[in-house]
Amino acid sequence: MARVLVVMMPAEGHINPSLGLIKELIESGDEVVYCCTEKYRTKIEALGAQFKAYSFNEATLLNNPNMKPFEIKHPYQFLYMILKKIIQRFIPDVLNLIENETYDYIIFDSLIGWGGQILGEKLGIPTICSTSTFVFVEPLGSGSHNLKDYNEEVQELYNGIMEMSQQLASRFNVAAPSLAELSGHPGQLKIVYTSRYFQPMGDKLDDSFVFTGPSIIPRKDAPAFANESLHALYKQVVYISMGTILNKDLEFYKLCFTAFRDLPVQFILSSGKDTDLEPIAELIPDNFIIRPYVPQLEVLQCVDAFLTHAGMNSASEALYYNVPLIMLPLTSDQPRVAGRIQELGAGVILDKNNLTPDILRTAVLEVLSNDSYREHAGVIGNTLRDAGGYKRAAAAIKEFLGNRPLSATTISSLE
Ligand code: UDP
Repeated sequence: MARVLVVMMPAEGHINPSLGLIKELIESGDEVVYCCTEKYRTKIEALGAQFKAYSFNEATLLNNPNMKPFEIKHPYQFLYMILKKIIQRFIPDVLNLIENETYDYIIFDSLIGWGGQILGEKLGIPTICSTSTFVFVEPLGSGSHNLKDYNEEVQELYNGIMEMSQQLASRFNVAAPSLAELSGHPGQLKIVYTSRYFQPMGDKLDDSFVFTGPSIIPRKDAPAFANESLHALYKQVVYISMGTILNKDLEFYKLCFTAFRDLPVQFILSSGKDTDLEPIAELIPDNFIIRPYVPQLEVLQCVDAFLTHAGMNSASEALYYNVPLIMLPLTSDQPRVAGRIQELGAGVILDKNNLTPDILRTAVLEVLSNDSYREHAGVIGNTLRDAGGYKRAAAAIKEFLGNRPLSATTISSLE
């Protein structure tokens, strides 16, 4: 059986989709060595994988506007940040961790970009990319961004990218990449945790992209929750969650209380593990159940609509269970995810900066009363369930590897 190196960035949204796949590979007999930051050790070791910790400042991912490809002014900024903040800093650490070791193939986070190719080339093994959000169908920096139209600043950025990638290539002793290689989707095989239908322009992507749908596995860390009593008082139930990161906006929760307190609907609010609701505790209406964290996969199976920030995981999980959405995209890939859902008729988008109780209430009532949203959510849900999940991902990897010889190199030094 094969020995696999997994290298992921330290973010729940990137790690969680990989867990089912890792479990499946281990059950098939593969030996998995998973590299991430110390914080994720227990979660990974629980799967039966070996864990190796690298150090990485997580604020680089969370607070850096240039790490959010959907928000930056020019795609070259994103490429430059990947080279500077991820590849330059953390590939040497990973190479040190695996010194004198041999692997048969590597699975790496799409956010590592060309860094995954460097590791693959150094080890002499096939590369598989784990992609937890939509794929960029047009390579970053191509299409509408024509080089001759660039101003000086962008030209400088381009020069910086080419210079740094050449320096890194000679430092790691690998072939210098072209701009197309840097900006295209990395990996010989790409596992994408959504369906080809839900992926914008999915029909334009070749068969090296394997769409597996979200990775739905039982979560042992989820707290108990009495789902069965959710419909005891009201016929309809709405779940509210703004995810696990930007969930401390008390003004937004107050707005929800005002908007929904008189509706004959049960609301469940996941307020966040670190959110202090004390200042607004007296305002909580009777038709609200509030918990810091809920077992979201189970809750979604019992609700009629979901008010969400449209994080890729939350949105995919809801659609997997045919739940229509009212969406308040905040940052990162959320506007793109929400846009696709609205385009496919499974939900409505609201502007977080232009919200009143009336707008919020009208949108929730529209989604609850118009069956077409649930029907369209069901259409996407079918494609997500049919995609095959982590079992399909593992099978696709085995198929891909079956067609190529496994011949690994041992890394003996950084250079
Ligand atoms: N989640 C959960 N219970 C909660 C809140 C969130 O299980 O009460 C999970 C949810 O199922 C999803 C993840 O946390 O898998 C949130 O990821 P998403 O990409 O939606 O948003 P982020 O937290 O990254 O902003």
